Amino acid sequence: MNRFEQLGLGEELLSAIEDMGFETPSEVQEKAIPVLLADDTDMVALAQTGTGKTAAFGFPLIQKINSGDKTTQGLILSPTRELCLQITNELKNYSKYVKGLRVVAIYGGASITEQAREVKRGAQIIVATPGRMQDMINRRMVDITHIDYCILDEADEMLNMGFYEDISSILSHTPAEKNTWLFSATMPKEVAAIAKKFMSHPEEITVGAKNSGTDTVQHEYYLVHGRDRYLALKRLADANPDIFSVVFCRTKRDTQNVAEKLIEDGYNAAALHGDLSQNQRDMVMRSFRTRQIQMLVATDVAARGIDVDDITHVINYQLPDEVETYNHRSGRTGRAGKSGISMVILAKSELRKIKAIEKIIKKQFEAKKIPSSMEICE
Ligand code: ADP
Ligand code: MG
Repeated sequence: MNRFEQLGLGEELLSAIEDMGFETPSEVQEKAIPVLLADDTDMVALAQTGTGKTAAFGFPLIQKINSGDKTTQGLILSPTRELCLQITNELKNYSKYVKGLRVVAIYGGASITEQAREVKRGAQIIVATPGRMQDMINRRMVDITHIDYCILDEADEMLNMGFYEDISSILSHTPAEKNTWLFSATMPKEVAAIAKKFMSHPEEITVGAKNSGTDTVQHEYYLVHGRDRYLALKRLADANPDIFSVVFCRTKRDTQNVAEKLIEDGYNAAALHGDLSQNQRDMVMRSFRTRQIQMLVATDVAARGIDVDDITHVINYQLPDEVETYNHRSGRTGRAGKSGISMVILAKSELRKIKAIEKIIKKQFEAKKIPSSMEICE
């Protein structure tokens, strides 16, 4: 009996897990799955990015849903369109041997009538961004009055993005006796408040920082003059020819500019930010996943939660305003126990921010020098 079987998962899921090549459950899966399967309970689960939270709620959800009944029984709220699509794909993989189960994604920037049609065909599980979900409720295009399970994924990020009102209103359309499962990387007071308001006696699960996804990540900073940031970025890329990275900028404009310059200078780069159409974003993500793009230049919002394997470097072209955001950024690499490097291109005036980050990540940065062109040629 493997460890997934011991958690109480059934045949269909076990076969899919075997196909996906998962060998042992991650810590958050090990803790959450048996509880969610055995009890009808609310849950608050805290675990860093990259620790396998999707399966931690996805496996029990799929097992508990009645796939013979077309009623919408499970609702997953998630902060961005990319994450909605990613979770939907994952759930489809997990449930490939479950007959009759339909998982439908609902998110902004795409045809609402098309999505309504998909829901109408029957969707036991809906994966939605709060904004579009609220919109579809208002237009009576979805019925969530019979759901048994509501999952708030990346709750901290949804609240950061200002979705409190939407979430609160969406939950008011769901039955009181459903179970709510909240998954989050961090527990700021806003998340604690939502848990308190909408959940009753939740089971609490915390996955220690020691096993977090960022633990295998090495942190480095490179001191430069502010005006030399772009040159520094190019040198770092040149020194790492096999780089497969996300480059974080603070604004959509910087994101677009840096990506354009990189492309002009002959790098395989592309921009990902909220001003692109959904179609453009999908195309960029596809090219990145298939490695046609080596450097994805992105804003925090656009890159949030994106799960692409084997990212070698996260580059902070500029540090984020919020220290917590650094954690989310560096969590893009070093996933599933692999090693990764998180680099910060830093102006001297920002050195104190590094100290603040070190406190949060409980690790030390290594101060490094930008490689000179000579070293790169060697
Ligand atoms: P999180 O939501 O916590 O950031 P994800 O659910 O996106 O993490 O999972 C991160 C990656 O780890 C995904 O590529 C996923 O397929 C993989 N993964 C999840 N669980 C396992 C497991 N038990 N064994 C191997 N890989 C796993
Ligand atoms: Mg996730």
